[in-house]
Amino acid sequence: MRLNIQELLRGDGAIPFTCEVDPAELDFPSVAAYRSPLSARGSVVSSAGLLTLKGEAKVSLLCRCDRCGKEYEREDTIPLETVLAAEHQDEEDPDVFLVQDDCVDLDEVVTTAFVLGLDSKTLCRPDCKGVCPRCGHDLNEGPCSCRPEADSRLAVLGQLLHEDEQEVS
Ligand SMILES: [Zn+2]
Ligand SMILES: [Zn+2]
Repeated sequence: MRLNIQELLRGDGAIPFTCEVDPAELDFPSVAAYRSPLSARGSVVSSAGLLTLKGEAKVSLLCRCDRCGKEYEREDTIPLETVLAAEHQDEEDPDVFLVQDDCVDLDEVVTTAFVLGLDSKTLCRPDCKGVCPRCGHDLNEGPCSCRPEADSRLAVLGQLLHEDEQEVS
């Protein structure tokens, strides 16, 4: 959705907004499905010649845990806070959104905030223990019957020490 903020370009004021963005095309390996659109609300404020957009977006996700692979439901609230530039003054700055034809592209602001805010690791719980690399058992449900792998370097060291002992005696 494009929000017309023409009146803010002339003087101080605020324009509230709500918008919904369909995130279906945003493809992340950790997101199995979107349960809701990105639902945003907030306002664009003009104060002392500075245009800022503030608000928050909410979305329900079905995520896939990076450690155990289990799918889990999650609600994300993404803070929206960005500076808007009326002119092409700082196009290199990714934190600044341009106002074009007196309009702000809310879809772009919301999707960018969502993409940047998505955790690099998605875990079903902060202390997820993952799965056993040998049998695939979910270690959150308790230990499996695999024996812990002996550290091969220690085993070799033990062997060497043992050989030394034999030589001395
Ligand atoms: Zn997990
Ligand atoms: Zn195991």
